Amino acid sequence: MALRERILIVEDEASIQKMLRTVLSANGYEVIEALTGAEALSMVTSHCPDVILLDLGLPDMDGNDLLKSLREWTATPVIVVSARTQEMDKVAAIDLGADDYITKPFGTSELLARIRMAIRHSRAMRHNDHIARTGTFQSGGLTIDYNKYRVYVDGVDAHLTQGEYRIVALLGRYAGRVLTYDFIMKELWGPASGGDNKILRVNMANIRRKIEKNTAAPRYIFTEVGVGYRMAEGDLDEEDN
Ligand code: CA
Repeated sequence: MALRERILIVEDEASIQKMLRTVLSANGYEVIEALTGAEALSMVTSHCPDVILLDLGLPDMDGNDLLKSLREWTATPVIVVSARTQEMDKVAAIDLGADDYITKPFGTSELLARIRMAIRHSRAMRHNDHIARTGTFQSGGLTIDYNKYRVYVDGVDAHLTQGEYRIVALLGRYAGRVLTYDFIMKELWGPASGGDNKILRVNMANIRRKIEKNTAAPRYIFTEVGVGYRMAEGDLDEEDN
Protein backbone atom coordinates (compact mmCIF):
# COMPACT_ATOMS: atom_id res chain seq x y z
CA MET A 1 0.00 0.00 0.00
CA ALA A 2 2.91 2.31 0.65
CA LEU A 3 4.19 1.77 -2.86
CA ARG A 4 4.62 5.04 -4.69
CA GLU A 5 2.60 5.55 -7.83
CA ARG A 6 4.71 5.58 -10.95
CA ILE A 7 4.07 8.21 -13.55
CA LEU A 8 5.39 8.12 -17.08
CA ILE A 9 5.98 11.55 -18.62
CA VAL A 10 5.95 11.43 -22.41
CA GLU A 11 7.27 14.84 -23.40
CA ASP A 12 10.04 15.96 -25.76
CA GLU A 13 10.34 19.52 -24.54
CA ALA A 14 13.10 19.59 -21.92
CA SER A 15 11.77 22.55 -19.92
CA ILE A 16 8.28 21.06 -19.52
CA GLN A 17 9.67 17.62 -18.77
CA LYS A 18 11.87 19.08 -16.07
CA MET A 19 9.00 21.05 -14.55
CA LEU A 20 6.75 17.97 -14.48
CA ARG A 21 9.50 15.80 -13.01
CA THR A 22 10.18 18.34 -10.26
CA VAL A 23 6.53 18.77 -9.31
CA LEU A 24 5.71 15.06 -9.37
CA SER A 25 8.82 13.96 -7.47
CA ALA A 26 8.21 16.63 -4.85
CA ASN A 27 4.70 15.22 -4.39
CA GLY A 28 5.85 11.69 -3.76
CA TYR A 29 5.44 10.14 -7.19
CA GLU A 30 8.02 7.98 -8.87
CA VAL A 31 8.79 9.53 -12.24
CA ILE A 32 9.92 7.82 -15.44
CA GLU A 33 10.38 9.63 -18.71
CA ALA A 34 10.17 9.08 -22.45
CA LEU A 35 11.12 11.61 -25.12
CA THR A 36 9.55 9.85 -28.09
CA GLY A 37 6.49 7.75 -28.84
CA ALA A 38 8.60 4.65 -29.50
CA GLU A 39 10.36 5.06 -26.16
CA ALA A 40 7.02 5.54 -24.43
CA LEU A 41 5.59 2.32 -25.89
CA SER A 42 8.49 0.25 -24.68
CA MET A 43 8.47 1.91 -21.24
CA VAL A 44 4.78 1.24 -20.72
CA THR A 45 5.49 -2.45 -21.35
CA SER A 46 8.61 -2.65 -19.21
CA HIS A 47 7.72 -0.27 -16.35
CA CYS A 48 3.92 -0.56 -15.96
CA PRO A 49 3.23 3.06 -14.98
CA ASP A 50 0.10 3.91 -12.97
CA VAL A 51 -0.55 7.04 -15.01
CA ILE A 52 0.78 8.32 -18.33
CA LEU A 53 1.10 12.06 -19.02
CA LEU A 54 1.11 12.41 -22.77
CA ASP A 55 2.21 15.33 -24.91
CA LEU A 56 0.57 15.23 -28.34
CA GLY A 57 3.40 16.78 -30.34
CA LEU A 58 6.12 14.15 -30.23
CA PRO A 59 9.13 14.06 -32.56
CA ASP A 60 8.46 10.61 -34.02
CA MET A 61 4.67 10.38 -34.00
CA ASP A 62 1.48 12.16 -33.07
CA GLY A 63 0.49 11.56 -29.48
CA ASN A 64 -2.96 10.52 -30.67
CA ASP A 65 -1.44 7.64 -32.64
CA LEU A 66 0.47 6.56 -29.57
CA LEU A 67 -2.74 6.73 -27.57
CA LYS A 68 -4.47 4.58 -30.16
CA SER A 69 -1.85 1.85 -30.00
CA LEU A 70 -1.75 1.95 -26.20
CA ARG A 71 -5.50 1.45 -26.01
CA GLU A 72 -5.24 -1.74 -28.04
CA TRP A 73 -3.76 -3.48 -25.03
CA THR A 74 -3.72 -1.38 -21.87
CA ALA A 75 -6.22 0.55 -19.76
CA THR A 76 -3.53 2.53 -17.91
CA PRO A 77 -4.94 6.03 -17.39
CA VAL A 78 -3.63 8.57 -19.89
CA ILE A 79 -3.82 12.29 -19.23
CA VAL A 80 -3.10 14.32 -22.33
CA VAL A 81 -1.03 17.40 -21.59
CA SER A 82 -1.13 19.54 -24.68
CA ALA A 83 -0.80 23.03 -26.08
CA ARG A 84 -3.69 22.23 -28.43
CA THR A 85 -6.60 24.05 -26.89
CA GLN A 86 -9.31 23.41 -29.48
CA GLU A 87 -12.32 21.57 -28.21
CA MET A 88 -12.12 19.18 -31.18
CA ASP A 89 -8.58 18.21 -30.13
CA LYS A 90 -9.80 17.34 -26.67
CA VAL A 91 -12.74 15.37 -28.01
CA ALA A 92 -10.48 13.48 -30.42
CA ALA A 93 -8.05 12.49 -27.67
CA ILE A 94 -10.84 11.42 -25.34
CA ASP A 95 -12.52 9.44 -28.12
CA LEU A 96 -9.22 7.64 -28.65
CA GLY A 97 -9.21 6.64 -25.00
CA ALA A 98 -7.57 9.47 -23.05
CA ASP A 99 -8.93 9.70 -19.51
CA ASP A 100 -8.39 13.41 -19.18
CA TYR A 101 -6.98 16.43 -20.96
CA ILE A 102 -5.02 19.37 -19.61
CA THR A 103 -4.00 22.32 -21.73
CA LYS A 104 -0.67 24.08 -21.37
CA PRO A 105 0.00 26.21 -19.46
CA PHE A 106 -1.59 24.62 -16.40
CA GLY A 107 -1.30 25.02 -12.64
CA THR A 108 0.46 22.33 -10.64
CA SER A 109 -2.44 21.90 -8.22
CA GLU A 110 -4.76 21.23 -11.15
CA LEU A 111 -2.32 18.70 -12.58
CA LEU A 112 -1.98 16.92 -9.23
CA ALA A 113 -5.75 16.84 -8.76
CA ARG A 114 -6.24 15.30 -12.21
CA ILE A 115 -3.59 12.68 -11.48
CA ARG A 116 -5.19 11.73 -8.18
CA MET A 117 -8.55 11.46 -9.89
CA ALA A 118 -7.15 9.23 -12.66
CA ILE A 119 -5.55 6.94 -10.07
CA ARG A 120 -8.75 6.70 -8.02
CA HIS A 121 -10.74 5.96 -11.13
CA SER A 122 -8.42 3.22 -12.33
CA ARG A 123 -8.40 1.61 -8.87
CA ALA A 124 -12.17 1.56 -8.86
CA MET A 125 -12.13 -0.09 -12.28
CA ARG A 126 -9.64 -2.69 -11.12
CA HIS A 127 -11.79 -3.45 -8.09
CA ASN A 128 -14.77 -3.90 -10.36
CA ASP A 129 -12.78 -6.13 -12.73
CA HIS A 130 -11.66 -8.15 -9.76
CA ILE A 131 -15.22 -8.49 -8.49
CA ALA A 132 -16.47 -9.39 -11.97
CA ARG A 133 -13.81 -12.05 -12.37
CA THR A 134 -13.80 -13.60 -8.91
CA GLY A 135 -17.22 -12.66 -7.55
CA THR A 136 -15.52 -11.45 -4.39
CA PHE A 137 -14.08 -8.35 -2.82
CA GLN A 138 -11.39 -8.77 -0.22
CA SER A 139 -9.72 -6.28 2.08
CA GLY A 140 -7.63 -7.87 4.79
CA GLY A 141 -9.91 -10.14 6.80
CA LEU A 142 -13.08 -8.84 5.16
CA THR A 143 -14.59 -10.77 2.25
CA ILE A 144 -17.71 -9.84 0.33
CA ASP A 145 -19.08 -12.77 -1.63
CA TYR A 146 -21.18 -11.23 -4.38
CA ASN A 147 -22.52 -14.58 -5.56
CA LYS A 148 -23.74 -15.71 -2.17
CA TYR A 149 -24.71 -12.22 -0.95
CA ARG A 150 -22.67 -12.76 2.18
CA VAL A 151 -19.96 -10.95 4.09
CA TYR A 152 -17.29 -12.82 6.01
CA VAL A 153 -14.83 -11.55 8.59
CA ASP A 154 -11.79 -13.75 9.06
CA GLY A 155 -13.71 -16.51 7.32
CA VAL A 156 -16.76 -16.29 9.60
CA ASP A 157 -20.15 -15.25 8.25
CA ALA A 158 -21.00 -11.82 9.69
CA HIS A 159 -24.75 -12.54 9.33
CA LEU A 160 -25.65 -9.21 7.81
CA THR A 161 -29.28 -8.49 7.06
CA GLN A 162 -30.17 -7.96 3.42
CA GLY A 163 -30.17 -4.18 3.90
CA GLU A 164 -26.81 -4.22 5.62
CA TYR A 165 -25.38 -6.45 2.92
CA ARG A 166 -26.48 -4.06 0.18
CA ILE A 167 -24.65 -1.16 1.83
CA VAL A 168 -21.43 -3.12 2.26
CA ALA A 169 -21.69 -4.54 -1.28
CA LEU A 170 -22.05 -1.04 -2.73
CA LEU A 171 -19.10 0.34 -0.77
CA GLY A 172 -17.01 -2.63 -1.92
CA ARG A 173 -17.64 -1.82 -5.55
CA TYR A 174 -16.28 1.67 -4.96
CA ALA A 175 -13.55 0.71 -2.50
CA GLY A 176 -11.13 3.51 -1.70
CA ARG A 177 -13.61 6.19 -2.71
CA VAL A 178 -15.89 8.19 -0.48
CA LEU A 179 -19.55 7.61 -1.25
CA THR A 180 -21.79 10.40 -0.07
CA TYR A 181 -24.80 9.65 2.14
CA ASP A 182 -26.96 10.99 -0.64
CA PHE A 183 -25.42 8.72 -3.27
CA ILE A 184 -25.81 5.63 -1.10
CA MET A 185 -29.39 6.50 -0.20
CA LYS A 186 -30.34 7.02 -3.84
CA GLU A 187 -28.58 3.85 -5.02
CA LEU A 188 -30.21 1.65 -2.41
CA TRP A 189 -33.50 3.27 -1.54
CA GLY A 190 -34.24 5.08 -4.80
CA PRO A 191 -34.46 8.73 -5.78
CA ALA A 192 -37.41 9.28 -3.43
CA SER A 193 -35.33 8.40 -0.38
CA GLY A 194 -35.10 12.07 0.58
CA GLY A 195 -32.53 13.74 2.75
CA ASP A 196 -32.97 11.66 5.89
CA ASN A 197 -29.91 9.51 6.45
CA LYS A 198 -31.17 7.94 9.66
CA ILE A 199 -31.83 4.53 8.11
CA LEU A 200 -28.29 4.54 6.73
CA ARG A 201 -26.73 5.54 10.05
CA VAL A 202 -28.69 2.89 11.93
CA ASN A 203 -27.66 0.22 9.43
CA MET A 204 -24.04 1.35 9.55
CA ALA A 205 -23.97 1.11 13.34
CA ASN A 206 -25.20 -2.49 13.05
CA ILE A 207 -22.74 -3.30 10.27
CA ARG A 208 -19.84 -1.98 12.34
CA ARG A 209 -20.91 -4.02 15.32
CA LYS A 210 -20.84 -7.13 13.14
CA ILE A 211 -17.69 -6.61 11.10
CA GLU A 212 -15.34 -4.41 13.10
CA LYS A 213 -13.38 -5.59 16.13
CA ASN A 214 -13.35 -2.08 17.52
CA THR A 215 -16.22 0.07 16.25
CA ALA A 216 -14.46 3.23 17.47
CA ALA A 217 -11.42 2.47 15.29
CA PRO A 218 -12.84 0.78 12.19
CA ARG A 219 -10.55 -1.12 9.83
CA TYR A 220 -12.92 -1.72 6.94
CA ILE A 221 -15.49 1.02 6.62
CA PHE A 222 -14.48 4.56 7.44
CA THR A 223 -16.67 7.57 8.12
CA GLU A 224 -15.88 10.81 6.34
CA VAL A 225 -17.58 13.10 8.80
CA GLY A 226 -20.44 15.01 7.25
CA VAL A 227 -19.79 13.45 3.84
CA GLY A 228 -20.26 9.71 3.75
CA TYR A 229 -18.51 6.36 4.01
CA ARG A 230 -15.47 4.78 2.41
CA MET A 231 -14.53 1.12 2.15
CA ALA A 232 -10.85 0.30 2.70
CA GLU A 233 -8.84 -0.43 -0.46
CA GLY A 234 -9.29 -3.97 -1.63
CA ASP A 235 -6.46 -6.46 -2.01
CA LEU A 236 -5.81 -6.74 -5.72
CA ASP A 237 -3.93 -9.75 -6.99
CA GLU A 238 -1.18 -9.68 -9.63
CA GLU A 239 -3.62 -10.17 -12.47
CA ASP A 240 -5.35 -6.92 -11.60
CA ASN A 241 -2.28 -4.81 -12.13
CA1 CA B 1 6.08 18.41 -27.83
